[in-house]
Amino acid sequence: MTCDDVRIRLLDYQRGRLPHSAQGEVRAHLDECPGCARADAVEQELTSVLEHRLPQHPASLALKRRLAAQWAAPTAEPSWWNRWRPSLVPAFAVAAVVVAATPVLYYERAASRAASERAGMVGEAVNDHLRVLTSQHPLDVESGGFHQVKPWFEGRLDFAPVVPFEGDADFPLKGGAVGYFRDRKAAVFVYARRLHPISLLIFRADGLAWPGRDLTRIGPVEAYATAERGFNVIMWRRGELGYALVSDVDARELRQLAARMAGGP
Ligand SMILES: [Zn+2]
Repeated sequence: MTCDDVRIRLLDYQRGRLPHSAQGEVRAHLDECPGCARADAVEQELTSVLEHRLPQHPASLALKRRLAAQWAAPTAEPSWWNRWRPSLVPAFAVAAVVVAATPVLYYERAASRAASERAGMVGEAVNDHLRVLTSQHPLDVESGGFHQVKPWFEGRLDFAPVVPFEGDADFPLKGGAVGYFRDRKAAVFVYARRLHPISLLIFRADGLAWPGRDLTRIGPVEAYATAERGFNVIMWRRGELGYALVSDVDARELRQLAARMAGGP
């Protein structure tokens, strides 16, 4: 199991909801991987704070007064407040800890989720590229002509892909196919650089966990550039569309291509 596999299963693991074998695999990974072990501890702590430490049904002040009034009054007794105070102090202390600790834990959990969702988007882009590489018939429409490929998508997608680069002698367009990116359809344009295929995925950008940090400016857009499993990946969004460029050509050349694509209309 990879770290991503483990992170998305942590909650189920902690609740014992995974199949027996997966439960064992996650446990084995946590024994080996300090990063995931820490994420596991953070999840557990937050769950515990949320489920057990918050007062479940705090009594109203009126109820407390009523209870206090019903107590048999011994002579020279302490006031109701003095009776209650010792039992309230720990509750206040716990509440203070909760108030102080919860945002930190939320932040850590949110940050670790954002990181794994970002990794998920990059992984999906690489998988889509691998599908193109390994498929017997990777391209639904094969052509060197942009004006044959682009109209071919009409009616096959639920959005209009905006492709600002038609291909040229350095990066010729090889064809296109309909693919999927996560839960949505994607237009896949395949270019080449010498013998290296390059996939450009275009899909609706809404509802995805776009990286908000570690961005680099490429032309007019803030792009996220990274590498995974030997492939360079550059992702950006423009208007309502998201773009992912994936290839094993070197990072500098892929950036040049991304700049031309992002710089178009
Ligand atoms: Zn790990």
